[in-house]
Amino acid sequence: MKRIAVLTSGGDAPGMNAAIRAVVRYGLDKGYEVLGVRQGYAGLIAGNFVTLGARDVGGIIQQGGTILGSARCPEFQAEEGRLKALRGLRQLNIEGLVVIGGNGSQTGAYALSQMDYPVVGVASTIDNDLHGSEITIGVDTALNIALEAIDRLKITASSHQRAFLVEVMGRDCGYLALAAAIAGGAEAVVIPERDLDEEAVATEVRTAYERGKAHAIVVVAEGARHNAESLHRYFQQNRHRLGFDLRVTTLGHVQRGGAPTAFDRLLATRLGAAATEQLAGGRHGVLVGLVKGQITMTPLAEVVGQKNPLDLSLLDLAAVLTK
Ligand code: ADP
Repeated sequence: MKRIAVLTSGGDAPGMNAAIRAVVRYGLDKGYEVLGVRQGYAGLIAGNFVTLGARDVGGIIQQGGTILGSARCPEFQAEEGRLKALRGLRQLNIEGLVVIGGNGSQTGAYALSQMDYPVVGVASTIDNDLHGSEITIGVDTALNIALEAIDRLKITASSHQRAFLVEVMGRDCGYLALAAAIAGGAEAVVIPERDLDEEAVATEVRTAYERGKAHAIVVVAEGARHNAESLHRYFQQNRHRLGFDLRVTTLGHVQRGGAPTAFDRLLATRLGAAATEQLAGGRHGVLVGLVKGQITMTPLAEVVGQKNPLDLSLLDLAAVLTK
């Protein structure tokens, strides 16, 4: 019996389950036995495998998180750890591996493929920072959760003439913050790609009130140099001079937990199936992603060490539309 395996690694993202389901069912259709690896690369090293049948992946397409579990595994960054994983894969006659995850996970996938093992990556991270996919699994859901929070904060902000700062995830990529700011109609956005200092943010908030707005929402990416903490401190210290209060809401892991949106379910299903198709066709060492709306394979060698550049013209658009 031909055999492949699938794992989820790094930060979990809504839609990972839909991708697992697609790998399993598409693989079964192609005559493979599909094994799931628990806890990402840690499970690969420990030999923590479970056989997944069609029914085992039933009822998971609508669930956030990952039924396989995920982990961060420093051991896999060392060759010794990867050799151990490789021995386990070969012992069980597993012919190929699908790695569902973000930047770090695909770096691990590349390292494994460099050791002559067939690996295909599936672009999945709420950070949307993967070269080789213009949008990754989980981004749409995380964005919609952030938006719901912003919409709610706007209501309470308008009632009290309060400024709210909303910190969103994204590591050192500002995509999620910028998209949430535009779609949520925020008054200012602070992202690592274009930082604003504390005084500039204060000016944005003040001028928003001067233009007659009843609220001011500032969206801050967690990776920005002037982050939520430093902005909050500044506003506290200068409260009397600035004349208004700034309340901070850190969305944090709430953004990861939601049921995947239709977009994420469809994307994950397409990418998961395409990854399995690659392995079945003897093609590997690539990341499966979406480029210009098409399923695209990008060599992992190109993916590693590169980032998706942010379209900064969107930032200018956000500044115009907040007027
Ligand atoms: P994400 O995939 O969400 O970006 P991480 O950056 O935490 O998450 O990476 C997930 C895992 O990928 C790490 O814990 C490690 O096991 C593996 N990994 C990351 N970088 C490398 C590397 N340079 N070589 C091998 N494995 C790596």
